[in-house]
Amino acid sequence: MWDGEPFLYHSLLASALNLKLLDPRAALGQTEQAWREGHAPIPSAEGFVRQILGWREYVRGVYWARMPEYLEQNALDAHQPLPEFFWSADTDMACLHAALTQTLQYGYAHHIQRLMVTGLFCLLLGVEPRAVHEWYLAVYVDAVEWVELPNTLGMSQYADGGWLASKPYVASGRYISRMSNYCDGCRFNPGKATGADACPFTTLYWDFLQRHRARFERHPRTALQWKHLQRIDQRELERIRAAAETLRRRLA
Ligand SMILES: Cc1cc2nc3c(=O)[nH]c(=O)nc-3n(C[C@H](O)[C@H](O)[C@H](O)COP(=O)(O)OP(=O)(O)OC[C@H]3O[C@@H](n4cnc5c(N)ncnc54)[C@H](O)[C@@H]3O)c2cc1C
Ligand code: SF4
Repeated sequence: MWDGEPFLYHSLLASALNLKLLDPRAALGQTEQAWREGHAPIPSAEGFVRQILGWREYVRGVYWARMPEYLEQNALDAHQPLPEFFWSADTDMACLHAALTQTLQYGYAHHIQRLMVTGLFCLLLGVEPRAVHEWYLAVYVDAVEWVELPNTLGMSQYADGGWLASKPYVASGRYISRMSNYCDGCRFNPGKATGADACPFTTLYWDFLQRHRARFERHPRTALQWKHLQRIDQRELERIRAAAETLRRRLA
């Protein structure tokens, strides 16, 4: 992710595919041909084929197998309203400001922005999955419910309790710092969970680990991640809980 680069290395084909202007088989055939003729390296061609033939078909299957009950899922019992700034991009969190500004301007954000910036913030804050779903459906030009809903409710918000993705995609501000240049221009410090310059992602990340400890600390795919809680002393954990509550009240 890079500030000022909204489309970075992405195909922008989802809306054409979802509107049936482009047959996915034609896109896959041309990708294979490009690789065979030496115009595309195998990791790029394989990754692209996997997204369309793998993920897109998989979420389609999930949608048709699980609807209409899927829409009502809320496995983590999340009830916070969607922050108002999702409709204006008016926030001093640089990563969210960038992802939301381009979303509102172009109706586009690439996958990692959807999953690990906007989606992650909602998951950590505890936003009602239905509200998150309605926002994604409203703002992206490629949004069609059968592909949007499993991605949002399942992959991004873990609202189906692990049916689509076996673990919640949670990370602190340090992940965004490693994966982008957003933090360079931000007033928050991705390494800090408490204090005036604490990164809200980092505060909410450690709070999320505490709030959902019972569910994930013995889960085979998450136990290692949750183990890190043991390294933080009790008083700091309490400060984190209080800071997260303050954030939730402010954004309600
Ligand atoms: C919370 C959330 C909501 C999403 N909502 C939508 C949506 O409404 N409509 C939509 O088409 N995609 C959605 N996605 C999946 C993915 O983010 C978009 O398909 C992708 O960003 C579109 O940009 P692109 O065409 O440049 O894709 P590229 O990154 O170039 O990928 C190529 C193609 O692969 C397919 N693809 C890649 N990842 C996925 C995926 N996880 N699920 C299904 N297809 C995938 C798409 O058809 C895409 O055009 C969502 C992902 C998340 C995390
Ligand atoms: S410091 Fe935190 S809020 Fe700021 S850009 Fe980095 S991850 Fe986002």
